[in-house]
Amino acid sequence: MLNERMEEGLNKQIVAELYSAYLYLAMSAYCHASKMPGMGHWMKKQALEEESHALKIFDYVAANGRARLSAIEAPPAEWDSPLAVAKGVLAHEKKVTAMIEALVETAKEEKDAATEEFLAWFIEEQEEEEESAAKLVQMLSGAQDAQALARVDAELGKR
Ligand code: MG
Repeated sequence: MLNERMEEGLNKQIVAELYSAYLYLAMSAYCHASKMPGMGHWMKKQALEEESHALKIFDYVAANGRARLSAIEAPPAEWDSPLAVAKGVLAHEKKVTAMIEALVETAKEEKDAATEEFLAWFIEEQEEEEESAAKLVQMLSGAQDAQALARVDAELGKR
């Protein structure tokens, strides 16, 4: 069974992952409105991945304690540019990595080896998320005109 502190932390993470899904869906909407449907598709795929993260934690908490859901904050609706969106993704993923690391610390402090092991998957996942976000920033930073941006958009649409 999860102790109260661990359970509360994991429940907060469920909401954080759902917020991530919500954020990427909002980014997807912005990309579509900005005539970047490929990037919009990339963001929607990302949103679905975040939803799967939330459900993975939900399943763990529901099986080992009590999953409790709270309000999901509204995401922003506007960004300055597709590059700003990409930078937003990278900044957000760094924040999520710090949250997962804090949960690992809690698991260690609470001597909860099972949860620590459960979280190891998320630590690895965050490395990949930060890598793909950094690549996204790099791709968009290099796109200086409409033609280059269209090429990046087509590439992102393949995800
Ligand atoms: Mg996630």
